[in-house]
Order: sequence, then structure tokens, then C-alpha cells
Amino acid sequence: MPLTCTIVLLWLTLIPFTISASPELPDMGAPSDTVFSPEEEKRLGEAFYRQLHQQVHISQDPEIQDYISSLGGRLIAHSDVANRSFHFFVVMDPQINAFAGPAGYIGVNSGLILATQSEGELASVLAHEIAHVAQQHLKRAFAAAKQLALPLAAATLAAILLGAQSPELGQAAFIALQAGSIQHQINFTRSHEQEADHVGIQILSASDFDPRSMPTFFERLQQSTRFLGQDVPEFLRTHPVTSARIADSRARAETFPYRQYPDSLAYLLTKAKLQVLTATDLTELRKSFNNQRQQGIEFQQAAASYGLALALKAQNQLEASRQMLTVLLDRFPDQPQFIHAMAQVELVQGQTQQALSRYQQALQRFPAAQVLKLEYAEALLETRHFQSARQLLEPFVATQAPRQPIVFKLLSRAYAGLGKAAESHRYLAEYYYASGDLEQAIFQAALARKLATGDRILEAIAKQRLKVFRAEDKARKQR
Ligand SMILES: [Zn+2]
Repeated sequence: MPLTCTIVLLWLTLIPFTISASPELPDMGAPSDTVFSPEEEKRLGEAFYRQLHQQVHISQDPEIQDYISSLGGRLIAHSDVANRSFHFFVVMDPQINAFAGPAGYIGVNSGLILATQSEGELASVLAHEIAHVAQQHLKRAFAAAKQLALPLAAATLAAILLGAQSPELGQAAFIALQAGSIQHQINFTRSHEQEADHVGIQILSASDFDPRSMPTFFERLQQSTRFLGQDVPEFLRTHPVTSARIADSRARAETFPYRQYPDSLAYLLTKAKLQVLTATDLTELRKSFNNQRQQGIEFQQAAASYGLALALKAQNQLEASRQMLTVLLDRFPDQPQFIHAMAQVELVQGQTQQALSRYQQALQRFPAAQVLKLEYAEALLETRHFQSARQLLEPFVATQAPRQPIVFKLLSRAYAGLGKAAESHRYLAEYYYASGDLEQAIFQAALARKLATGDRILEAIAKQRLKVFRAEDKARKQR
């Protein structure tokens, strides 16, 4: 075990959060940093993100994660908050929703991505959320959460932002009151919405997305509830859309010269993959992909073929899937999604060596491709190449921010395969901690400590992590 890894884990140890001594709500005019220090907000954001894993299914698909991060990153780079850290992620939920949590954690539901008809529409939602963060519209809500112990504050914010009724929140009238006060401040006012639209349109245009996408998407959301009698999307509950607001953003967007903005291939592929992952009827979906393959421009056709290949694989029609992917790889030999999909088909077909060398060759051409590395590591684990998987995964622990549960889970599997039980449980503990499951984290860390007898460094790490997990668990249970 390299020493660097140990140091990073020790360094990342959190100091338990305490309940704030001043329960006063801040004045609107108060400088926000006196309300919540950046370090405190960062800690709240991390706890919020961990907690969220307990309440919703956050996509651990490296390709989906990579796409939403790149899209968010592109927008941030063209905003006033380019120096702040943000983290974008996808929640696997059919509800049309997107939300900004503390410390720049921005979540977007798969349902919202699938409801967009262009990449600009998806970008406009992210730009709008970024604008709420940049304009500090959420500071008061987060400050209200400061009255609670950290794990509870994180859980409360998560429940409110998701629009979910958390049973945990219903238990105490005190918490309900707090939640109400925070909820009130997360339902943005009209002026907040307008401001977020204005700033968002600036960000869109600067990032080379169509500023008209914003009024177009919001208009469609509003119409879908008005004419189709559907439930109001969660997004509209917290971000009220009025006709006046749409007209205002439309007028603003129209000041930019009109031109075409083609969707990126990555956007179309992400949508196709999400369609397959969330499909209730794969046969119907295949028909729809088959129709789309005959229409549109090249990227749209390629995305439809890719969706069809994934659906075929999901239905175990491996030869048909392989044929589809062969054609795609002829045309786009370097497209990582196609390389991965083909390798996955080969693995199921038992062509292990072919699949593994496909990843190796791709990584030789693109040594910095983090997504391919993770996917290759997973393939190595499945084919029992534990040592190589471990070597590939370990650098992720030091570099990934925020901590993605999947990396710890894979590392735990690698160590289990190598017969190193203590290490395996230690990483399993980190997996559960990153997923917000403190009880399992405590159980696994205790096991790691017990099994680490003789390995003093590992024993010390397990002991210290146990202390952190227990302190947080205690704070969570304080009511
Ligand atoms: Zn809004």
C-alpha cells in the first residue's frame, strides 16, 4: 500500500460538526461569509452529497457522470464563479427536477435530461442553477440549516430540495419547523428567478449555447402542466415560471443573433443511454431507436444506433448488438462510449482477451481518459485481474473530489480478490460512508480494525475513521 494513499485518507478526516450557538436567522443584508464560513459550507455540501445517496439513486455510471461534469464545467468556466468549486451529478429519477445544494453541488434528474430536446435546453437549466449559486440566493436557506447538527442539516436540505417527504423529518415538530423555515427560502422569489434567468442567459451565450433554449424549455414545462394536466414538475414548484417571466427571458434571448447550435455527440449518447437505463419496455424503445436511425443528422443517427445496441445487449441479443457497434466503431473509432459498449458485449460473450486489449489500446491512445480507466478497472475485476485493477484504481482515491462511492467499492473488491480482508473492509467502510450509510460504515471500519492486527498503519487508519463515523452518527441521532 503506497504511503500517499494513507496520508490522503488521514488528511481528509472530518472534524465533527457542532450545533451553532447562534440560532438567529441572518439579516438579508448580512455579509454572507459571517453567516457560513466557506469551510463550513464545504463541509455541509459534502455531508449533503453523502446523505443524498441515501435518499435518491445518484448515477454511478462513469460516462453519465463525466458528461454532466463536462457540461457543468463548460458553463462554470464562462460564469462569474469560475474560481469556485462545483460538482454536478445525475439523479436517476423520472421527475423533472434540478436543484442546487450547498457548496455548489448541483443535481439534475434523469427525467429532466430526457425531457430536454436539445443540449442548449439542458445547459439552460444548469446555467439557471449556477446563477442561483452565483447570486447567493440559497445562502439564507443554508444559514437556517446551520442551527441543526451537520448530518441533520444535510438530511433536511436534501429532503427539501428533492421535494421528498422524509419520515425522519416528520418525527419532531422542532425539525418540521426548521424545515418549513428552510423550505420557505428555497422556493425562489420572482425576482430571484428573473435574476437567475438573466445571469443564466449570459452564461449560456458565453459558453456558446443557444440563449433561446431557456425560454423554450421553461415554456414547454409550463405548457405541459397547463394543457396536459400533468403534475407540476418539482422544478416548477421551487422555480415558479410565469408567462411574464418567460416573455422577459425570451426578449433577452432574442437580443442575441440567431444561428444554429448543433448538439454534441456526448449529449445525444448520454440521452440514449439514459433512455435504455430507464426504459420500462425495451422492445418498444428499440422500435423507436430504429426509426430514429433513418432520420436526422449523422450524430442523431449514431446516437440512435448506440441506443439500439445497448437495448439489444440488455435483451441479451449480443450478436445484433455487436454488429451495430462494429458499424459505429468503423465510423467513430475513438468514441469512448462505443469502445466500452463493444468491450462489454465481448466480456459477456466470453472474449475476455479481446475486451481487455480493447481498453488497453484505447488507454494507450488516451492515457488521461479517466472514465475508460474506471471502466477498464471494472472489467479487470470481473475477469479476476485483481492486482492490475488495484493499481489502476488507487490513484482515484487521491484525486477524486468529491468522493465517489463506486471507486471505494471497486477497490474493496480488488483487495478482497487479493485476499487482503482488512484492506477490503476498510475500503468498504469508505464506500458506505461516501454513500451516507453510517451504520454500515461503522460496522465495516470496526471489522477492518479487528482484522488489521499487526499492520499498525492500517489499524491506526481504521481506528481514526471509526472515531469520525461514530461522532457523526451520534450527531445525527441528536434531536
Ligand atoms: Zn430558479
